[in-house]
This record gives sequence, C-alpha cells and structure tokens, in this order.
Amino acid sequence: MSTRNIDQSRRTFLQSATALGALSVLHPYSVFASTGQAHLRIMETTDLHVHVFPYDYYGDKPADNVGLARTASIINSIRAEASNALLVDNGDFLQGNPMGDYIAYERGMSEGQVHPVIAAMNTLGFDCSTLGNHEFNYGLEFMEAVLGGAEFPFVCANVAMGNPGSTARDDKPINHVKPYTILDRIVTTGDGTEHPIKVGLIGFVPQQIMNWDRRWLHGNIATRDIVDAAEAWVPEMKEAGADVVIALSHSGIDAGSRSEGMENASLHVAGVNGIDAIVTGHHHRVFPGPAYESADGIDAKTGTLQGKPAVMAGFWGSHLGLIDLLLEKQGDAWSVLSAESEARAISERVERKNIPLVESDATVLESVQADHDATLAYVRRAVGKTAAPLHSYFALVADDPSVQVVSQAQTWYISDMMKGTEWEGLPVLSAAAPFKAGGRGGPEYYTDVPVGDVAIKNVSDLYLYPNTVRAVAITGAQVKEWLERSAGIFNQVNAGQADQPLINPEFPSYNFDVIDGVTYEIDLTQPSKYDPKGELLDASASRVVNLKHNGNPIDEAQKFIVATNNYRAGGGGNFPGINDDVVVFNGPDTNRDVLVRYIVDQGTINPKADANWKFASIKDASVVFDTGPGGREHAANVQGVSIEAVGDGADGFARYAIDLGG
Ligand code: MN
Ligand code: MG
Repeated sequence: MSTRNIDQSRRTFLQSATALGALSVLHPYSVFASTGQAHLRIMETTDLHVHVFPYDYYGDKPADNVGLARTASIINSIRAEASNALLVDNGDFLQGNPMGDYIAYERGMSEGQVHPVIAAMNTLGFDCSTLGNHEFNYGLEFMEAVLGGAEFPFVCANVAMGNPGSTARDDKPINHVKPYTILDRIVTTGDGTEHPIKVGLIGFVPQQIMNWDRRWLHGNIATRDIVDAAEAWVPEMKEAGADVVIALSHSGIDAGSRSEGMENASLHVAGVNGIDAIVTGHHHRVFPGPAYESADGIDAKTGTLQGKPAVMAGFWGSHLGLIDLLLEKQGDAWSVLSAESEARAISERVERKNIPLVESDATVLESVQADHDATLAYVRRAVGKTAAPLHSYFALVADDPSVQVVSQAQTWYISDMMKGTEWEGLPVLSAAAPFKAGGRGGPEYYTDVPVGDVAIKNVSDLYLYPNTVRAVAITGAQVKEWLERSAGIFNQVNAGQADQPLINPEFPSYNFDVIDGVTYEIDLTQPSKYDPKGELLDASASRVVNLKHNGNPIDEAQKFIVATNNYRAGGGGNFPGINDDVVVFNGPDTNRDVLVRYIVDQGTINPKADANWKFASIKDASVVFDTGPGGREHAANVQGVSIEAVGDGADGFARYAIDLGG
C-alpha cells in the first residue's frame, strides 16, 4: 500500500518474498484473504527520540538496542510479508539524544536543510506521522522548519486548530500539520484484483505540552482534550470517505477512567466510534506484552483496547509495532473482519547484554552519516565550562560538586515548570544522589571532570541513568523523613572512639539523596531510623538535626516542591511517603537533558558545594572511609569537614579519616 507496493501484483510479491528467504513468510491474512478480502498491515515506530544510528552518544559507544537503522531492517522484511502495508510514526522523533540537540543548538535548520531523523524517515518511505510532545521542545518555528522537510504528512487533531476565544495565534494551524489525512491507496485482494481504499489517519498529543513547553507555546497555540478531539473529528473523516480510520495516539495506556485533559488516553480513544485501530506511544513501553496488565478494556496479551487492535513499539527504535487487519469489502464499504497486533524487537537481552537480532540498514545509515559524524564531534567538544572540579570522591561525606550541579539544574528546571501551576510560589528543593561513588564499582568508579571544558559526554558521567525528571509536593515533616531514610547509609558512631567505619557497604549510594535548598546536620551518635531497604527500624530515632529552611527551623506543616527523578518518585528505594500520590510534575525530559540544557544556558557553571549538610560534631570521635585514589588532590578542598589521608584502603582504594570532634 505504500507507493512501492501499489504496482506490485500478488505474483511479484510472492516472488520477492521467496527471494528474501526464511524471514519473509507471508502473513496468513495475505495468504488466505479471499475475493473481496484484503490484508492491510500497519507498521509503527514511536518515540524514536532522534535515534537513527545504533549509538549511545552520551556514552560515545555503539548500542545494539536502539536505532531506526536497525528497525528499518525489520520494516523491509515485514513489508515483504504483507500484500499491503503502511508505515507510520507516532511522534517524539525530534528530541531526546545529542543528535537532536546538535541540530537544534548548533547546526540549525536553514532553508532547504533536512533534519537527519526526517531524512532517515524519508528514506524508509513513511506514509504519515503524528506529533509527540517532544516535537515542541525547541519551539514552533524550529518544528515547522523540520516538518517542512518531510515527504509525508503530519496529523495532530488536538492542537491549535481554531479555538474561538483562545489565545492561539490567529487560530492558524501549525504549518505542515493537519488534524487528519486521508490517504488514497490501492489494496490487492485475495483474488489478485486491485481496489481503491481511503485510509484515514488522525493524531493526538498530550495537552500537557502547554505546561512542559510553556515558554514556546503559551499564547501561541491552544490544545483540546484528546478524546473530545477524536469525537469531533472522526465523524468528519467518515463523511470525507475514510474506509478505515487509524488513530496515531501519542499517548500511553492508562486503565483509569476518563478524565478531562488525561495524558495517557489511548484506552479511551479506542472507545471512539469509527476508529478501527490505535497506534500508541509516549509511555516508552511495549504493547501487547507484560509491561501492561490486562484490565477492563485492556487485553495486554492479544493487544486490544476496547476490543480494537492496538500496539506500542517501545522507544528509540527498540521495536517495530504491527497491526494486521483483514478487511472485507461489501458493496462500497470496507469493514475489519479480523485483527492482530504484535511488537517485534530489534535486540534481545541475554545475560545483561543486548544481542542484536537485525543488522543496520545501510541506506538509512547513509542518509544521516554526515550529521552522525558531526554529532560525534559535538559530544566530544566543549559545550560549556565548569569553574569548579566536578568529582564525587567525597560525595558520601560532604556536600559535593557532582551532586550539587545536578540539584542546581533540577531546581532551575522545576522552578520554571511550576510557573503558571497551582504550585507556583512554593519553595523548590532538589534531591540528588551520587551514582558513581566507588563501592562495588571499584576505586576508579567516580565522577571526575576537571575545571575547564565540559563536553556532552561528560554529562552521562554526572548523571549515569536515563531517568526522567519528577517533582513531588510534600510537607516539611516529609522532607525530614526523606533525609532520615538517606542517613541510613552511615553506621552509628560512639563518642570517645577513634577510627570507626563510617559507611554501611550494604547501602547503595544511589539511595543516599542529598536535599538542596535546606540545611541540616546528621548526628551519627543516633541510630538509623530506617534500614538499608527503607524499612522502619526505630520510630523514635532521629539523626537529622538542625533542619532549616531559609535559616529558620523547618515548618513541619509547610508544603515544599522537591525535584527528583522517576525512580525515586515512583517509590524506588522505598522512601517514606514518596510515591505516585505526591507527584505533581511528571516530566517528559530526562535529568541528563536538563543538565545539558542548564550547562548550555549558563555557559559556565560554578557548582561550588555550599556545605548545606554536614555531620554534627561528636566529642573525641573519628571515622574512616575509603574513596578512589583520584580524590587525593581534592581532599583539602572539601567543604564542611576536615579530611585526613591515612594511607591505603583495601583493593586499591585510598583511606581517609574524619575528625568529628568539631
Ligand atoms: Mn517519548
Ligand atoms: Mg548543596
């Protein structure tokens, strides 16, 4: 059904399928379709986030579990399995890795230039795409320039389309974007005859873009509830002659009941009359599959929503989503007789390694080779400077620059995101933990970026995990519990005793959150309130003392916003009271991206640790701890604590002592 298939008869199809060998067995719908029946296959990519090459630009190394060049190989073999196929993208293609940033921040989009991800999509002959929330990240003008380079249409029915009385700029649609499109195609039926068919495609994006990209969108576009928009536009598509309607829903699958402005509304989109199949995304998960639980209206095994076929193809090109429809023509009308859905992976996980299941498609690689090379140069070159060394050698014993810079970026970002919300005006705190802090990772396993240039590839060193940003609204009392949980990393210490071991090795450093924006001390003579897994040990215990906000004792009833990540906000580390119920901002951006943006915005960062936390003094007591030998040159500059080198530790570590006498 894509242009390359229109002229092919069933016979040539079978021949080409045979030529491709074992990979290309025709789908049963194509084999068994009878007179008046046609097999229509919809292939989906979603949430590509600029991943074309199988490459991790942050780590500056190849990656076998990402990349449209890999998905492309599946596309080519899968096209050969069906007599009629359509290829769609479900949005979030424009932002999310350093190649996206390189084009937006450095190369730009001058007249006639094509964005690399669009170049790759053009190469593959996409039939249509919708917009995801991330298409708006670099502003409307940039997005319009990118969309202009595509050889396929974009659909999105719930933005900017003439909203009377709104602040949308002159009710003008976004350039190159229509609410829906109807593709005139020819399908081949089981008897080998060709028939015209009108395939309607309609797109949706979460309304939350107005919050996430407020600075670009406020006053420029208006949005509408996803399901309302579907109910409004689908009848018009049917009137315009659409035989089949496919929803490109850049929205996840939420089993909850419908609510106004719902972010993950695909289940309810499926319920709209006239829609025949739903392509989903945004959640970065795989459907059908174990990532979802079957619930009312959701069949995660067969892949249906409200009984209609649905699919979600993971993210970054990890999977190709497939919906197979067996259509039947009666008179002039087509109907869906039967349907199947499936997501096919480009790699599999075996013993903690990603094993590729397909090769890269050479023509796709070729289409972005120049921008890939330029991106490699970009990640290896300075994008900003740091005025302070960014290292984590002492992150477990003192306020630390590698953690500080993460909190500065998170506070900068979340303060902006709270603007115009009911939470605007509440104090913004930030929680961050050292991820690379020795331990089982060994004596070299520390963040260590010297004063001077900071390159993009350093950012992955500062923020190891591809987490996304969250904010929670909690009370001063909950802030204290958060810190009590973190303080469980330390062993209890006695007064009048020297060289006591400080760190409990059973406690992972990523659960040692430092909260920036308040000041506090940790009294190590007190027992820990929580065990390393976050279970309450002693309800009366209290190690966190002198907890202050703006120099005054914290008000236990006051509300605070705390910036954090999806792991912590989702209950990771079992922090008391921190779970989805207190989340007020569910950010689309990764913490890394926020860090990159912060560095680009600031030019030079100066993450001097401000010693906002330290150990309370203990009479005649000292503790010892191990860190990497790379810390030697920094020991004298650690704020809020006096550290003394005391020789070698075990296994290549260096040993230090802290005098807690004060
Ligand atoms: Mn996405
Ligand atoms: Mg600090």
